[in-house]
Amino acid sequence: MLPRMIIAIPRETVPGEKRIALVAESVKRLVGRKHEVVIESGAGQGAECSDEELRAAGARLEPTAAAVYAAADVLLKVQPPGPEELPLLKPGSVLVSLAYPMSNPKLARAIAERQVTLLAMDMVPRTTLAQMMDVLSSQATIAGYRAVLLAAEAMPKLFPMLMTAAGTIPPAKVLVLGAGVAGLQAIATARRLGAVVEAYDVRKVVKEQVESLGARFVNIDIEDAAGSGGYAKELSEEAKKKQAEALAVHVAKSDAVITTALVPGRRAPVLLPADMVRRMKSGSVVVDIAAEQGGNCELTRPGERYRTENGVTVIGEKNLPSQLSVHASAMFSRNLEKLLAHVTDKDGALKLDASDEIVKGMLITRGGDIVHPAVADVAMKEVA
Ligand code: NAD
Repeated sequence: MLPRMIIAIPRETVPGEKRIALVAESVKRLVGRKHEVVIESGAGQGAECSDEELRAAGARLEPTAAAVYAAADVLLKVQPPGPEELPLLKPGSVLVSLAYPMSNPKLARAIAERQVTLLAMDMVPRTTLAQMMDVLSSQATIAGYRAVLLAAEAMPKLFPMLMTAAGTIPPAKVLVLGAGVAGLQAIATARRLGAVVEAYDVRKVVKEQVESLGARFVNIDIEDAAGSGGYAKELSEEAKKKQAEALAVHVAKSDAVITTALVPGRRAPVLLPADMVRRMKSGSVVVDIAAEQGGNCELTRPGERYRTENGVTVIGEKNLPSQLSVHASAMFSRNLEKLLAHVTDKDGALKLDASDEIVKGMLITRGGDIVHPAVADVAMKEVA
């Protein structure tokens, strides 16, 4: 019997990327639903998922990327395709991966020109129904947790308060800036390690969530910047100034500052200007989760970790989810499985209904064109 769909997974090629789009558990379920799953040999290595395990789950292993791309009805990836992968995409196939089309419309155009349909995982709408497919949330959860461990490891101090015969050690003071998905997980993790945690966000609605995790919400008397879909809006210049003045006091007394603030479609807001970091104590740490989007700290060097002249370790490591590749892949994989279930009919055939809210939000290219109006708009502006 012919498989319903051939789902193909190549090895990730971005340096340092250890995740795999589909783990063995998901392979097994998809094969059980009469799909064929083709995986490039070694694709799971970085996530402790061996070829044998994938084969035992029902996958067919192929030795080359070319064979995997050529087999695909649907190609599942974590990272957007790079220049060396684009020519391998099979015309008529569907690519499901992170793609950041709003900031990289050129890639969307190149995918359209290959006659490939693109579903961008970073464009899944933030609705209750789509939550199970939301890789931004699943991966941000991991980044938030990891950031706190990086801070704890880089700090020459303990996190918890200890009362011992050798004296009393005060708890570490951690400040979390941005209390979205990553920030809330950072708060929870730092609390579990015994730190005293403060957190701040421009969306005042998160105050209650912050407090329910046992942290103190830093109140700053500026406009509420809650935008649509749970995201933040950019602040006015006056509000930014007021925010910086108020935050400076909290930053200066913190042992670790974890920054997670993002505004969709913009460079990450700078919350820690250089002079604020210069007023931090020697031995303190900044972990900038927003490093990939330009960073929340002016002194962040994306992809690097270094010590400033005044002894502050600034960590701007990229792709924190990949550092916990086993669970990051498991969650990514589960998100993809839920998406596939959403876009296939009862016979397992792919049905991309452009009037469906979820499909509409993430369908970027189809039939050789960019069909997502907002992406088409940025692509047009880029050409003009
Ligand atoms: P995000 O990654 O875009 O931003 C992280 C946080 O930074 C946000 O909380 C934002 O308010 C904050 N921020 C932006 N500018 C700031 C500034 N100048 N100072 C301080 N903080 C600033 O957002 P996210 O974490 O992915 O999601 C934000 C919210 O969206 C979540 O808390 C949740 O309520 C909602 N959400 C809903 C769904 C869903 O319903 N499916 C899924 C994910 C998120």
